[in-house]
Amino acid sequence: MDDKTTAEIMEQTRYRILLIEDDKLDQMAFERFVRSEKLPYDYRIAGSVSEARKILDCEQFDVIVADYSLGDGTAMDILSSVEDLPIILTTGAADERVAIEAWKAGAYDYIAKDSDRTYLKAIPKAVENAIDRMKMEKALERKQKNLEAIFDAAPIGMLLANENMVITRVNYAVRQMLHRDYPQIINRQIGDALGCIRGSHGQRGCENCFFSSGCLLRQAMEIVRDLERPVHDVEMYTTLKIYNQETKLWLRISAEPVRIDDRKYVLLAIDDITERKQAEEEHRLAEEKLKETMELKSQFISTVSHEIRTPLAAIKEGIAIVLDGVTGPINEGQKKFLDVVKRNTDRLGALINDVLDFQKLKSGNKILDFQSNDIEQILSDVHETMALYAKRSEVELSVDCARGLPKAEFDRDKIIQVLTNLVSNAIKFTPRQGRVSVNVRHREGELVIGISDTGMGIPKEALPKIFERFYRVKRPGKEIQGTGLGLAIVHKIVMMHGGRIEVESEIDRGTAFTVFLPVKAKSPPEQSSTQMDELLENSITG
Ligand code: ADP
Repeated sequence: MDDKTTAEIMEQTRYRILLIEDDKLDQMAFERFVRSEKLPYDYRIAGSVSEARKILDCEQFDVIVADYSLGDGTAMDILSSVEDLPIILTTGAADERVAIEAWKAGAYDYIAKDSDRTYLKAIPKAVENAIDRMKMEKALERKQKNLEAIFDAAPIGMLLANENMVITRVNYAVRQMLHRDYPQIINRQIGDALGCIRGSHGQRGCENCFFSSGCLLRQAMEIVRDLERPVHDVEMYTTLKIYNQETKLWLRISAEPVRIDDRKYVLLAIDDITERKQAEEEHRLAEEKLKETMELKSQFISTVSHEIRTPLAAIKEGIAIVLDGVTGPINEGQKKFLDVVKRNTDRLGALINDVLDFQKLKSGNKILDFQSNDIEQILSDVHETMALYAKRSEVELSVDCARGLPKAEFDRDKIIQVLTNLVSNAIKFTPRQGRVSVNVRHREGELVIGISDTGMGIPKEALPKIFERFYRVKRPGKEIQGTGLGLAIVHKIVMMHGGRIEVESEIDRGTAFTVFLPVKAKSPPEQSSTQMDELLENSITG
């Protein structure tokens, strides 16, 4: 600003100036100067304090240039009565006392008069500076007001505390949170302002009452005040007096150091998180309860299943002995009924095995034994196991492996279980003279294992359900035995390997299952133990 020339200043907008000067010669000199310098001033001249007041009552100005001593008073009288208007003092009595007094009272500038009136030359710059400063002050004031408005309307509770932890400013959210009026908070020590219950030996109120050194809020504020560094997200459980009632609240507090006029303040942001904390707490209780129930159920299922297995084994053994004629010859009628008993005991045995298998899978990834495996070798084992069943069913079983398949990381026994299950289903649901083919390829980090048959197929509407536990396609007239758990187990195991399974089918043409298995073991999609338990629970109770 200082480097602006008079000419530059002149180019700018016109200023309205009030000159308060009781010396006629000085008045004339000012007018002459304005004219000769062509200053862009619209000015009025007042010869006294009272005249100046009259003019100020009905006219607006940008700047006042006032002589210090005036006939009926001093420029200080004007200073004290005008606001928002910069005043430049001129005086012949150039002493520091006047200058200091004027500055203190809010004068913007001070120009010492001299006898040859060269002081007039300082006026244009002083006027320009005063107006600029006024503009800046106004902008700052606006900013300050905006900040205050943001502070007041912030949806989170905000408090400003001074070095002595006394609240100097508070916003609406705090007043609402604490159900307190402004005077009950402002100018009060923070503990009182919040309504902290002052407990003796921590017996009442929160355990670490603000008035004790253990209070988290107090500690946070002291850190902020003394070290001038922020503290964020302190959660504290506290007892406050709200509506004269002791109320337990969870508060989350952040504190920032702030300096205003070189004094230390602590800006507090307070959030009432009681509802969230209560919801979390309830959720945790509920979760613990659910876990307990699930554990009990799974224990129950496993015990019952084991308990059934033992007598079932004895029944099977007994039937086999009688059927084999060890206890003496049996007639055709007896054999027929014993065959029915045998089939049903076999079914019951298979169901119990599947239930136990499914239950074991519930603990997720932990139970898998990931090793590097040769899929070709595994398929040859599966082929060997299933060959007799295929032969008896008069179904042609073939296995085809692409060349150079990489070794893959998976749980050998579990993947054998998957493939055996799929191949045995394929044989089971394929009429005589049909074909079951297994092939394996390697594609983009995955082993792609296809198991296809030329069997009876699966109706379109049943396809989305076949991996659900106990789901079986209804085939009136040609029911084929099974538990409906096999594919649910297959699906679970594949998922636990981070893989996936797809199925395509056409009625009376055949079915093709495709298992995609990652070559490098990867963790399965997130599934909480509760979900796993629920799955088990559903699978058992149907
Ligand atoms: P199940 O013990 O009945 O075989 P699964 O869970 O293994 O139970 O299979 C569920 C149902 O899906 C079966 O009952 C059957 O209807 C159908 N399914 C499975 N595999 C085949 C297949 N290869 N061909 C035709 N239907 C099949």
